[in-house]
Amino acid sequence: MAVTTVYKEPAPIVDRENPLESMMSRFNIAADILGLDEQTYNVLKAADKQVIVSIPVTMDDGKVQVFEGYRVVHNTILGPSKGGIRYDKNVHLDEVKALAAWMTWKCAVVDIPYGGAKGGIICDPTTMSPGEIERMTRAYTLAMKDVFGPDRDIPAPDMGTGPREMAWLMDEFSKTNGMTTPAVVTGKPLVMGGSLGRTEATGRGVMVSALAAMKKLGMDPTKATAAVQGFGNVGSWAAKLLSEQGVTIKAVSDVSGAYWNENGINVDEAIAYKNAHNGRLDGYTGAQLMDNADDLLLADVDVLVPAAVEDVITEHNADRIKAKLIVEGANGPTSASADSIINEKGIMVVPDILANSGGVTVSYFEWVQNKQGFKWTEQMVTERADRIMNDAFEKVYATSQKYNIPMRIAAYVVAIDKVAQTYKFRGAY
Ligand code: GLU
Repeated sequence: MAVTTVYKEPAPIVDRENPLESMMSRFNIAADILGLDEQTYNVLKAADKQVIVSIPVTMDDGKVQVFEGYRVVHNTILGPSKGGIRYDKNVHLDEVKALAAWMTWKCAVVDIPYGGAKGGIICDPTTMSPGEIERMTRAYTLAMKDVFGPDRDIPAPDMGTGPREMAWLMDEFSKTNGMTTPAVVTGKPLVMGGSLGRTEATGRGVMVSALAAMKKLGMDPTKATAAVQGFGNVGSWAAKLLSEQGVTIKAVSDVSGAYWNENGINVDEAIAYKNAHNGRLDGYTGAQLMDNADDLLLADVDVLVPAAVEDVITEHNADRIKAKLIVEGANGPTSASADSIINEKGIMVVPDILANSGGVTVSYFEWVQNKQGFKWTEQMVTERADRIMNDAFEKVYATSQKYNIPMRIAAYVVAIDKVAQTYKFRGAY
């Protein structure tokens, strides 16, 4: 495969901003635009519940290690709270609080009857055995047995977790309550009530919203180029599905580095390589390793898809971004300090709470199927999810035109308006 020169720029200095502050600064702008009254503002701003637990786990060496776990329920005005569980060494309470609030706004943007929550455990699952992860997951579930529930709070996968952990969670919750309860968690393996189309759902939503945005910008997907940061579930599916639409994926990256191919990366080949190599791209030869992985964000492409972690686009690198469209596969990849720079450059952003909401949308379908005791076909799932994504995109786009505001703030306006209106009807004590 022909491989040409790597795109080079000085490395950006990436500071991690507090994601809770990032979330709040956008929330404040949208609340102002909506003219939200002070009482409603105060209600929507605060998390309903924050649970912190210590989880003692016997490790394989026989020693007990105590992990700290969180579950933050931000809001349940629209329905039971929904959101993933993150296993990562950088988990912290403010991050979980921000992610929980983003779930509230995300569910409201796509108009599904859920509130928002998020969980996390400070741990490094890459250094733990499957047995240790299983014991930690079960202990966490037991500690959260009064928080979780099919009509109360419904977890799902996030960074560091997947169908395997969701199966243990479902099993532990079911045993504790004396009845098999598939609807307590989504993102389960297919055989135990998972939904067709759930694995690729977030990446598919990224593709669908990217196409919708390209249409508005008059960009032809078959002539467009893209760079995708992150090659986990979201990034790899987004890259695959975008390339199937004719987009040339010039760069992808994971923890091992960023890989560049001027002629386009063969995404299926890269995914097969990753699957055969412990989930990592180390040593992948279908592209050239870039000197600095952060340079992927500055690559000369039309579309940038940050699908890894928070705060990678900041005031330190935003002015050097060349893409005309950013589609946020990750939660919070752009820090608030970068917003004005991006807006001034005229870059269109499909914000996280819209672009990555395909995952929770199909989670909702999984929950509905579990409650119905009925399985939908893959076609039913994808058709309905695509329609929801397109409708949400159009609503946010129309709001951005109406108020002459960026898509990000428009998404918050749509979400906050829905939750605030419902809150008014439901009332307070
Ligand atoms: N963790 C995913 C997210 O951030 C999925 C949440 C869910 O399906 O409940 O959207």
